[in-house]
Amino acid sequence: MALFWPGTPCALCHAPIEGGAEAIGFAALPDVRSEFDHLYDACVHRTCLNSWSRRAAFVEQHNDLIDAHAPGRLSKLALKADGNIVHEVDDWSYGGR
Ligand SMILES: [Zn+2]
Repeated sequence: MALFWPGTPCALCHAPIEGGAEAIGFAALPDVRSEFDHLYDACVHRTCLNSWSRRAAFVEQHNDLIDAHAPGRLSKLALKADGNIVHEVDDWSYGGR
């Protein structure tokens, strides 16, 4: 899981992330060779992720990698009806901490 500290740069917009509640992080997944390389083992602003045009493709690839490399051990992502992307297991989310 990506480490977060105040000022961690967002992997999408590169601006610092000041608070944990505004961040979501992703696991370091092996053998990643894709347009989404920069997101694995990294954190992003939730607002950046939720408004990103490639978010659905990223969620699909992320979850495929979990199935391939860590089934049952790492949390998949879910695209909620309200537009938010969350980890299915909330321990993987920084929200509310
Ligand atoms: Zn951002």
